[in-house]
Amino acid sequence: MRPLPSPPVPVATAALARAVFPVGCLAMRLRDELGVVFTNADFTGAYPRQGGPALSPVTLALVSVLQYAERLTDRQAVHAAPHLIMHVVTTTAPTDDAAQTLRVEHDLISAGRGPAEHLVDAGYMGAELIVEAAHLGIDLVGPVPIVGGRQEREGRGYGLGDFTIDFDAHTATCPQGKTSTRWIDTIIDGHPRIHVDFYNAGCPACPAKPDCTKARYRGLTLHPREQHEALQQRRREQDTDTWRKRYATRAGVEGTIAQAVHACDARRSRYKGLPKVRLEHILLATAINLIRLDAWWTGTPLGPTRTSHYARLELAA
Ligand code: SF4
Repeated sequence: MRPLPSPPVPVATAALARAVFPVGCLAMRLRDELGVVFTNADFTGAYPRQGGPALSPVTLALVSVLQYAERLTDRQAVHAAPHLIMHVVTTTAPTDDAAQTLRVEHDLISAGRGPAEHLVDAGYMGAELIVEAAHLGIDLVGPVPIVGGRQEREGRGYGLGDFTIDFDAHTATCPQGKTSTRWIDTIIDGHPRIHVDFYNAGCPACPAKPDCTKARYRGLTLHPREQHEALQQRRREQDTDTWRKRYATRAGVEGTIAQAVHACDARRSRYKGLPKVRLEHILLATAINLIRLDAWWTGTPLGPTRTSHYARLELAA
């Protein structure tokens, strides 16, 4: 674990808390009277030396303690706060979604609100982004796109994951035990990549060749080491129920988009020009936050997940 100091409570968060609890509450008095109760360094021994970024141990410890004080279940503890929009980015339509991931993260960090976890859809994911986000201390979570050759797309034959890659020795070993013969650093579409192939490794005579390649010999395209390892790990993780349960939280983001569309008519802009549309988006996000705060103050439960007409037909059958 790399114990970073606990960030101070952002000024806006403190102001919001004072507005919501004018006479204070247990958690606020705890902070006011006792100050910092835990530090991340207290938990160093409980965490492995290596691993991806995770929720701050201090935050986890405080939520775990306070949930008993407030008689909340684990799930209620996570959802005890209102879900608010923290940042707005407005771009022109043809802008690449993936280019916004790090921009949003940098903006949030600059504002002192860097998240420990960032849940995104596939359009905002990529090997480079996972690694860059991890360097910022953010766990970028989303489905990694299935890229690669025919084998990955069709889900049969020898895919990249079936090869053993040795980045130190600059070799790959195929499922038939043959070692690659060429390892070439290259650039594809402006991104560093590694070309590995099994030229002269005996592919034409290989009994498994139909499962491996239609070409004379097999070739692989790899990301640089750190990205490759992150990508392979994510591909393994996203095939598990644990990951699916974790990612299910992102339904709340889709709910936010649906609320913006249905409650605030966000599909259409009232104005022309990026600066005005950006202002409109900020006003719209603020309006949604007010709606959500009101729902929270009045104890209005979150809306249920919508079941599509098609799914309803399926359930009825
Ligand atoms: S075709 Fe070549 S790379 Fe593929 S399994 Fe056979 S020997 Fe290995």
